[in-house]
Amino acid sequence: MTQILSGREVAKTMLQSIGRGLKAEGGAPGLAVIQVGEDPASSIYVGRKEARAKKLGFYSQRIQLAGDVSETDLLAEITRLNLDVKVHGILVQLPLPPHLNESKILESVAPQKDIDGFHSMNAGLLMQGRGGMAPCTPKGVMHILAHYEIALEGLHAVVVGRSNIVGRPMMALLEQANCTVTICHSRTKNLQAHLKMADIVVAAVGKPKMIKGEWLKKGAVVIDVGINRLEDGSICGDVDFESAKEVASAITPVPGCVGPTTIASLMENTLFAFAAFT
Ligand code: NDP
Repeated sequence: MTQILSGREVAKTMLQSIGRGLKAEGGAPGLAVIQVGEDPASSIYVGRKEARAKKLGFYSQRIQLAGDVSETDLLAEITRLNLDVKVHGILVQLPLPPHLNESKILESVAPQKDIDGFHSMNAGLLMQGRGGMAPCTPKGVMHILAHYEIALEGLHAVVVGRSNIVGRPMMALLEQANCTVTICHSRTKNLQAHLKMADIVVAAVGKPKMIKGEWLKKGAVVIDVGINRLEDGSICGDVDFESAKEVASAITPVPGCVGPTTIASLMENTLFAFAAFT
């Protein structure tokens, strides 16, 4: 029978562990979230992060900037937060408006406060297997796999998508867990042939229900990172859940799996940054 993996359950366990870690450390980790403009989806994500931080007893700052804020003013805000001793983690909500240079902005966050793990120093440390702050979504996926005791060593993992936010760090984390990893992208020839050989599939594409059950190997573990909004307003993943669950041994639903573990990983990274600071 196919196991439906519950990210909510995994996130609950993670948050309990963060609560215990917080008690052990004492004090309040500080999380600052910067939002530029008022994109409704970004507002929802920022609100969830802020609410979760407050619920855990973190110190939380939400910085709302106008959509036409200048790069200079945004950089000045980040510099202020880099120097604020109450703030241990800084997150700049993406996407940014096109007039702002995203990589320049992300590079301006102090690496030790870069709880999203997007600074090139943290990305480099991760790629070299030397720790660093791992991006929250791939980290959440690793928590899901660990929670359900999916033994990874020697398995063939296929990651679909090569973004710096999901696909690339996912590849590094799976490789460090001793998987053999194939990374696929929009120029990959015969994606289906790669997927047919995968013991684990991580889909991070952004194309609704693109990956079909018949493309998968029988018994594969399927992790669907995708969040796609359909015309009727409903949300679906990058995997066609109905056909994939007939083939997979375990599968994540969308919504409700990877999302909650992403937020819990953000809290975990904030706690790590706080513990390293104190
Ligand atoms: P990006 O758009 O940055 O990257 C998408 C990747 O998919 C690219 O590497 C692209 O290839 C690849 N791709 C596009 N089309 C195909 C195709 N037909 N076949 C194979 N690969 C393809 O997206 P993100 O990584 O930021 O996000 C991916 C998905 O995950 C989105 O749905 C997003 O909403 C979701 N997401 C969910 C999170 C969560 O918490 N659950 C957090 C972050 C993202 P190429 O590089 O060649 O262009």
